[in-house]
Amino acid sequence: MGTSCRLVVVPPPGVGREQDARVTHQALTEAEAALRRVEAQMSTWIDATPLSRFNRAPPGERFPLPAPVVHVLRRSRELHAATDGAFDVTCRPLIELWRAAGKSGQLPPPTAIAKARAASSWNVLDLADDGVTKHAPGARVDLGGIAKGYAIDQAVAAMRRAGAHGGLVDVGGDVRVFGQQPSQSPWEIQLRDPSGTGVIGTFPIREGAVCTSGDYFRFAEIAGQRYSHIIDPRSGRPARGVRSATVVAPDALTADAWATALSVLGEAGLDRVPPDLEAVLILGRKGHLRAVATAGFRHLIRDDLPYPTTFR
Ligand code: ADP
Ligand code: MG
Repeated sequence: MGTSCRLVVVPPPGVGREQDARVTHQALTEAEAALRRVEAQMSTWIDATPLSRFNRAPPGERFPLPAPVVHVLRRSRELHAATDGAFDVTCRPLIELWRAAGKSGQLPPPTAIAKARAASSWNVLDLADDGVTKHAPGARVDLGGIAKGYAIDQAVAAMRRAGAHGGLVDVGGDVRVFGQQPSQSPWEIQLRDPSGTGVIGTFPIREGAVCTSGDYFRFAEIAGQRYSHIIDPRSGRPARGVRSATVVAPDALTADAWATALSVLGEAGLDRVPPDLEAVLILGRKGHLRAVATAGFRHLIRDDLPYPTTFR
C-alpha cells in the first residue's frame, strides 16, 4: 500500500511466558498476512491484483472477483449514497487524469475533465455476489480511499482470532484499537498537525478507529499550485479547502471512507455524518487554521486543539 504499519498485540493475562509469546507471535503473523492479502486483492498500484485486472478488462462480461473485493465495492456503493456522492470509488478515470497532470505539470483541458467525469459513475457497473460487470469501456474503480481501512479491520479480526487480549493496528497513521492494554489505561491516538509534523491532539480511546485524510502528505503540484490527491466527483477537480479530515468510527473502513468524503464535502458534510461517528476538520491556510468538529468530538479529545474550534 506504499506505506508502513505498526502492530501491537497484548496477550491474555496470566497465561505464562511461553503461551504469551506463542499468542503474540501468531497474532502478529496473522495480522500481517491479513494486511498483505487485502493489498494483493485490492491495490491499484500492483498490476496483477484482481482489481487492476478488472480495470483493464473489456466491458460486457461478468468479471469474477474475490468475495472481499465485492464486499468492499458494496460498502463503497452504500457510502456513495450516504455521503451524497462525495465518496466515489468509480472516479478512477478522474484520479488517473489528475495524476497524469501532476506528472506533466500541465492542467488537464476542460474537455478531458468532462470525458473522465462521464466515465466515473456507478451507473455503468453491475455488482453481483461473484463479480462485477462494466457497461462502458472506460469504467474503472479505485479503492485507495477505503481498502486501507478494510485491511486494518481484517488485521484486527485476525488478532482477535489468534487470541489477543488487546491490540492496535496502525497503517500509515490510520489506526484501530481493541481490548485492554496491560496498564488498563485507554489507547492513545495522536492527531497530526496538517501544517507541520507535530501533534495537535490526543484521543484516549478504548475501542474503535481513527482515520485521517489530508492534502498535506500526498498532493500534486501543477504550475506552482498544490492539488489534493482527493477528487471532488461533483466538479471532476481535486478537492479544496480541507487541510485534514479526521473521523472516529467503530470500524476503520467506515472511518477511512468518511475521512475521504469529508475532505470533499467540507464543513457542510459534518451535518451528514451518522450519529455513531465523530469528526474534526482543519480548514484554512497555514497561519490561519481553524477547526470544525461534530458536537461529540469535544468529549473525545483530551485537550483543546491549538486552533479556534467550533462544534456543530
Ligand atoms: P490517504 O491515501 O492519504 O490515506 P484517503 O484515505 O483519503 O487518503 O484516500 C485517498 C485516495 O482515495 C486517493 O489517492 C484515490 O485513490 C482515492 N480517491 C480520491 N478521491 C476519491 C473520492 N472522491 N472518493 C473515493 N476515493 C477517492
Ligand atoms: Mg480514506
